[in-house]
Order: sequence, then structure tokens, then C-alpha cells
Amino acid sequence: MMKLRKIGVLAFHGDVIEHIEATKQAAKNLHLNIKVIPVRTKESLHNLDALIIPGGESTTLHKLCEREDMWEDMKRIRNIFGTCAGAIMLAKMIHHKTPDQKTLERMDIEIDRNAYGRQTESFDKDVKTSLGNIHTVFIRAPRIKKVGKDVKILAKNEGETIACEQKIDNHYYLAACFHPELTSTIFHEYFLKKIYRI
Ligand code: GLN
Repeated sequence: MMKLRKIGVLAFHGDVIEHIEATKQAAKNLHLNIKVIPVRTKESLHNLDALIIPGGESTTLHKLCEREDMWEDMKRIRNIFGTCAGAIMLAKMIHHKTPDQKTLERMDIEIDRNAYGRQTESFDKDVKTSLGNIHTVFIRAPRIKKVGKDVKILAKNEGETIACEQKIDNHYYLAACFHPELTSTIFHEYFLKKIYRI
């Protein structure tokens, strides 16, 4: 029997339902049979092909993942897609973090929290990406300040990287500063294609 394909969405807060729906729709578009589960415990991280970390608040995500003792197991997951706060969670270096804030330190990116300003300075706009056009929504988003040489840029806004990917050995990471789950499935489809090599 074929192994069940399983994707987890970190489900403490943020756009959890939207990511679950976007992933299911993306799988449908690609004719893939996958199970998408909410992840709130260490146990539910087991046997996942991939994890999606939604936007929300990176300091809260960090605290809750620590409380559940999920940190080390999360680091071992082969494929991770992080949006907004999720992208912060993937970065090796963050500016304006709280004193005890940690990230998973997976991608060679330098990211600045809340760098577009306050919540009221959130914005949306159409952007051309190498995956196609997408209406992007930035909600108190971080700015990617620098990317390492092995990071591939997938989208830019006014000269700044807003989506990128990195492959490290047999691990794959995808990060976006905006919220693709709110407007499109192109990023989720791209992520599934990378995971299942289709
Ligand atoms: N400002 C949030 C943080 O620092 C990110 C915002 C978001 O995910 N929409 O974690």
C-alpha cells in the first residue's frame, strides 16, 4: 500500500484554517491525495512530509512550540513552508526580536520583524513572482534584509526579497513575508511539487 502523504499546519494561532484550505485546494489542483492535519503537539509532528508555519506572532509561536517541547522535532522536518511570522521562524538571523526569542534557524536569511511599521501600515498589492502573479497581503510583515548565496529568490517588492527558498542537503525550506494563503494557491502548489517531486 502507498504511504499516506501527510502535511501538518502549525495550529496555535494565525491563518491556520486558510493554510489548511489552501493546501487541500492545491493538492486537488495537482490531483494529489494528501492528508492535511493541524499540529499542536510534538506527537502530531511525527511522520509528516512537511510542515506549514502560518503567520501570526513569531514570539508567541516560539513560546508555544517551546512549551510543547516541539523545537528539536520541528528542526528535523524535511520540508517547511513559513509565511510571515513563519518566515521569521525559519530565519537564521532576526532583527528586533524580543530578548528571549528564538527561531528554528533553518534558512540563510536575515529578517527584520515589523519592519514595514505598525499594524495600520499593513498593505496589499499585486506582485509578479517567478511562480506567477499573486495579490500579496502584508500584515505587520517582516522584511528580508539579506539572503545567503544558496537562497533562491522567488519574488521581490520594490527591490526587496519577499519570497525565497533554500535547499540544504535533503531539507527544503520556503519562506514568504506576505500571506499567500489569503489570495491564491500558487505557493502551496509549488511547495507540494517540491515535496513530492512532481
Ligand atoms: N509581526 C509578526 C511577528 O513579528 C508577524 C506578522 C504576521 O505574521 N502577519 O511575528
